[in-house]
Amino acid sequence: SNWESHVRSSAQIRRHNGFSVLVTGAAGFVGSHVSLALKKRGDGVVGLDNFNDYYNPDLKRSRRDLLTANGVFIVEGDLNDAKLLANLFDLVQFSHVMHLAAQAGVRYAMENPHSYIHSNIAGLVTLLEASKSAMPQPSVVWASSSSVYGLNEKSPFSESDRTDKPASLYAATKKAGEEITHTYNHIYGLSITGLRFFTVYGPWGRPDMAYFSFTRDILEGKPITIYRGKNHADLARDFTYIDDIAKGCIGSLDTAKKSTGSGGKKRGPAQFRIFNLGNTSPVTVPMMVGMLEKHLKVKAKKNLVEMPGNGDVQFTHANISYARSEFGYNPTTDLQTGLKKFVKWYISYYGYNHAKSV
Ligand code: NAD
Repeated sequence: SNWESHVRSSAQIRRHNGFSVLVTGAAGFVGSHVSLALKKRGDGVVGLDNFNDYYNPDLKRSRRDLLTANGVFIVEGDLNDAKLLANLFDLVQFSHVMHLAAQAGVRYAMENPHSYIHSNIAGLVTLLEASKSAMPQPSVVWASSSSVYGLNEKSPFSESDRTDKPASLYAATKKAGEEITHTYNHIYGLSITGLRFFTVYGPWGRPDMAYFSFTRDILEGKPITIYRGKNHADLARDFTYIDDIAKGCIGSLDTAKKSTGSGGKKRGPAQFRIFNLGNTSPVTVPMMVGMLEKHLKVKAKKNLVEMPGNGDVQFTHANISYARSEFGYNPTTDLQTGLKKFVKWYISYYGYNHAKSV
């Protein structure tokens, strides 16, 4: 079919040593940036995304158009479509899988809990099954989340800290993903790298995240709701700029040792690694809002309310020394600078008074 020839040409390795990477969630925020960055350095990239309407899929289509213009072809389909995956793996000998598709967000679980199971559990397993059967030396890098630290109160969070108290169904599915990938690692010899992202933000970001919806509401003159935690303490997040995250994803991909042996169940011992990818400098939500006000040149109308206890944690803070030592991960964009870039993108995409619904 038409997409099959696109996929074939899109995945062609243009440079000596180039990888051939399947990026899931490629029309998503992180997936689109990572796909573009891989493509720009000469790797062959094929994207997969189901364009679901968790947030306005127009934004996903715009990201896709940008990728397509840069030579990345995106297949529209679901992780749970085992036939489609088998077909894709058959068409292209992928050297790596970069798995960034998921049901993200913590609050949506109250509306649609099963979407988390569908994408983050069942979809993950379908993808691992396909990788295990089709790739001679499977290497899978995938997005876990800082949310696995849950109600951990130790700061900063290190990879060896306890992750046995998820605060949301989202966190529980990411934690389960870590266990599931670990099982595929030791039973089938898949090489696995799990990345615990910390609040990723930037251009082409996710409209459901606070920095994004606050920007929209501030520009529209609507009040914003800021949650406060225990004893009225401000919530804080280790906001991490998208370019730093994309570099971390690719750095970890480049240092992942592919599993030894080929095919079947007889692979040698393979790597299982989990890294924090954060910024190591948490900022409170009110301070983040202050930065937005400055860049937007508009004062926000703020409602401060008690955190409703629906999945948010009080603070996040990454210790990144492991990623630093293994592949030189080194975030360089502070929140002030990164939000300036986000606001510039936001206004160029939506205008000051955007009529499009976000
Ligand atoms: P996103 O929602 O923008 O991207 C995910 C993409 O996956 C979407 O385009 C969606 O359509 C696609 N998708 C979802 N379920 C699918 C399925 N079953 N089949 C095919 N495609 C499917 O989110 P993002 O912010 O880019 O997140 C990327 C990854 O990073 C996710 O795994 C997320 O859980 C994780 N993560 C993100 C953050 C963050 O702050 N953005 C923090 C921690 C972890």
